[in-house]
Amino acid sequence: MATIREVAVELAKNRVGLAVLTARDNPKKPVAVVSERDVLRAVAQRLDLDGPASSIANPPITVLDTDPVRVAAEKMRRHNIRHVVVVDRNGDLVGVLSIRDLCFERAILIELAAAEAPATP
Ligand code: AMP
Repeated sequence: MATIREVAVELAKNRVGLAVLTARDNPKKPVAVVSERDVLRAVAQRLDLDGPASSIANPPITVLDTDPVRVAAEKMRRHNIRHVVVVDRNGDLVGVLSIRDLCFERAILIELAAAEAPATP
């Protein structure tokens, strides 16, 4: 089981904001997530950083790899999160989509703008 410190090291090493914890017997099954904010809170609360990362983790909020990106954007807004975990229809991990990805992909911005646009009379 990963410790909080190990998750922090992975986040820093990979320059990402979210770590996905997977099942011990199946590395494709996401079971929880830890974001840099969770690690920051753990430091602020002086938690034992060698304690289990699961103590600061949350159950994953996911989208399907076939969902349009606006579904991901809606989930980020509704849950006030900056990442969604992408899974396939078997629930296997495909990757993580961050709010950064939404901001810097021109095609995604165009799709989001179209989805938000008010209907014309
Ligand atoms: P973030 O803004 O994404 O750094 O995360 C803020 C809070 O939301 C942290 O407590 C994260 O653990 C949680 N969080 C972020 N993304 C997800 C996700 N996809 N599923 C569940 N919780 C998440």
